[in-house]
Amino acid sequence: MDTLSSPLPIGDLQITTDLQVLAQAELDRQEENYYFKTFLEKRDGEEIDARVNRLNDIIAPAIDCTACGNCCKSLMVNITQPEAERLAVYLKMEVGDLKEKYIETSQQGSMMVLNTIPCHFLKGTSCSIYEHRFTECRDFPALHRGNFTERLFATFMHYGRCPIIYNVVEHLKIETGFKAAQTNS
Ligand code: SF4
Ligand code: SF4
Repeated sequence: MDTLSSPLPIGDLQITTDLQVLAQAELDRQEENYYFKTFLEKRDGEEIDARVNRLNDIIAPAIDCTACGNCCKSLMVNITQPEAERLAVYLKMEVGDLKEKYIETSQQGSMMVLNTIPCHFLKGTSCSIYEHRFTECRDFPALHRGNFTERLFATFMHYGRCPIIYNVVEHLKIETGFKAAQTNS
């Protein structure tokens, strides 16, 4: 991803997309983020969802995922049978061959995941099957969804890797008064 020498302002929001800054922040703010998760767990879930959804609506469109692709280097992507079939048609392969080459299936056969991390289909910073990428890829980082306070563990796992998550979390710290309370304590 192109690094920005200074954060990008969007209205009143400053947006950081420098992956090195994110990685360092993850190391530096382990304790702060632990307390922030505890703080969020005590807040009204619907109020936090409304804030997260609104911040995501502003921040996600301002970040070019095709110039990042960082989640594709670490996500374990679940795939459904219809998705595998659609991709096989697109790649002009037999489904069996596609599964053998790209997919790992659980012993019971009920779960399928891509068999490499980083993902096979990541070329540079872009997805080579973008129009046919899987539901989990389209959904990530799922900040448009509800129940944010019940998904803190999974979300914060990617705090130091995903600029959308990082920026939403940092602005949420300000909006909820957490940052001010930290500064004054
Ligand atoms: S299929 Fe595409 S979007 Fe999904 S993890 Fe792989 S490269 Fe990323
Ligand atoms: S979802 Fe996050 S990590 Fe993935 S490409 Fe977009 S900004 Fe990067």
